[in-house]
Amino acid sequence: MICDLCKSDKNVSSYKVEPKEEMVNLCETCLEQIESGNLDENHFNCLNDSMWSENSAVKVLTYRLLKKLWRNDLLDMMYMEDDELAWAEAEQEELRDSNWNILKTWDSVSVIKDLDVKWAWKTLKKWTTIKNIKACEVPWHVACKVDWFWNLYLKVEFLKKI
Ligand SMILES: [Zn+2]
Repeated sequence: MICDLCKSDKNVSSYKVEPKEEMVNLCETCLEQIESGNLDENHFNCLNDSMWSENSAVKVLTYRLLKKLWRNDLLDMMYMEDDELAWAEAEQEELRDSNWNILKTWDSVSVIKDLDVKWAWKTLKKWTTIKNIKACEVPWHVACKVDWFWNLYLKVEFLKKI
């Protein structure tokens, strides 16, 4: 068995592309990065190939990863059937901010307390405004971008919709 994304044969296992029951094969590197949400852009150069897959589950997973990596250039080139797109965009759960308001992709939020960002060795200051948050696959988190960090995951309970 080889990885549907990067073609590695290292510890390949099956991974369910929620919310459908269809599976893809992932190597340990791809799986670890997808589950932690900490994506290495170089490793995921393999998405350049997997985006042309004829397998819908592989395309849907590729689409979600490209979105997380802000690769709009590749997303624009991808051809998705309507049902594949709906599957790719299906939200796992409703995201609610600290005031229980629903958060959606492209909303703006402010941060309600100082948050340490471990990978950047920085603190995101209370009341920082963040534009264009995105739903992501890490439960109860949104993905966003600040000027000093391009791939930040924030827990929704520390955010307030503005
Ligand atoms: Zn892989």
